[in-house]
Amino acid sequence: MDRFLRYVQYDTKSDETGKNCPSTEKQKVFGELLVTELQAIGLHEVSMDENGYVMATLPGNVDKEVPVIGFIAHMDTSPDFSGENVKARVVKDYDGKDIMLNEEENIMLSPTDFPELRDYIGKDLITTDGTTLLGADNKAGIAEIITAAEFLIQHPEIPHGTIKIGFTPDEEIGRGADLFDVNKFGARYAYTVDGGPIGELEYENFNAAGAKITIRGRNVHPGSAKNKMINSMLIAVELAAMLPQKETPAHTEGYEGFYHLTSLNGDVEQTKMSYIIREFDTEKFTDRKRIMQDAVDQLNQKYGENTVVLELKDQYYNMREKIEAVKHVVDAAYEAMKAVGVEPMITPVRGGTDGAKLSYMGLPTPNIFTGGHNFHGRYEYIPTFTMEKAVEVIVKIAEIYSRKG
Ligand SMILES: [Zn+2]
Repeated sequence: MDRFLRYVQYDTKSDETGKNCPSTEKQKVFGELLVTELQAIGLHEVSMDENGYVMATLPGNVDKEVPVIGFIAHMDTSPDFSGENVKARVVKDYDGKDIMLNEEENIMLSPTDFPELRDYIGKDLITTDGTTLLGADNKAGIAEIITAAEFLIQHPEIPHGTIKIGFTPDEEIGRGADLFDVNKFGARYAYTVDGGPIGELEYENFNAAGAKITIRGRNVHPGSAKNKMINSMLIAVELAAMLPQKETPAHTEGYEGFYHLTSLNGDVEQTKMSYIIREFDTEKFTDRKRIMQDAVDQLNQKYGENTVVLELKDQYYNMREKIEAVKHVVDAAYEAMKAVGVEPMITPVRGGTDGAKLSYMGLPTPNIFTGGHNFHGRYEYIPTFTMEKAVEVIVKIAEIYSRKG
């Protein structure tokens, strides 16, 4: 908790308009603090590279050769909400009632809105003061990984192989894995400690593509436009109507995929649309992209070649395919949770994770819980005992892999 409360005071918000890596210099300020701490607790090969990636090694203490395991978390916080001047509050022995976060603005963290709070009656919670996010996403993960490493150093009787630690910048803007040096990291398998509530264990995520659509119209004075004008905005509306109407984020859950119109800007002459396409199943993912391409082709037949131009780009893929080949990575996390009294909850991630990209870069990386709730906003909170459980799970995974030759 002390470690976490110290970390959240660092503003590490990333910025999707930033051209460099990290996207904001302040992430490196936090990275330097982490380097100092990792050295202070006795880790080896502690470094931060020019892109702000922090890495460290905890040497193994067993004689035989066992797989090198990595634990990864991200340093940045979401651009969606302020992460400046975070004043975390500790609510001791939570009584199950509304928590007044901010008297002045009457901001309440209430079990009426967030019923999961009732699971934590009698526990200590860390909340915001209602004006910023908390940053448990993902500074809780960082605090948990470092605390686990320190615990292993202080308890040499617990057997473990070589453990690698990696902290990345810019996860929240989808770039966290981009410049991750998998070779330098040197782990065979890894876990991102970036999930939500206690028990979360994730190794499936969306396949993702982005579509940029440009529609060219032809503007003519509306009084003399008959058979001449092409209104690009109306073609955009037509295209949106050709896609399956019940397959949007607002109509889907679980393993259901969707088309999501993320922006629409235009006038008569030109309209631009952006879509994201998401689907778990690889075949259905291909189908979704084809359905969009077919709709565009039909419109071009109707209005003329190149009226509608579609640029489709794959963004990331479901890690399941990469993880299933080494399913023991998930099994080890499952076993570790059970061993420390945590009920594992395996759920598909309706999004992407850095681990998904890393899995395709040769480092299979499922995701485990941090223990936090309501990420990216003022209602973010984390119970301290779930952080402790996350530490225990990390330690246990290290121990489990010391038995695997
Ligand atoms: Zn995160």
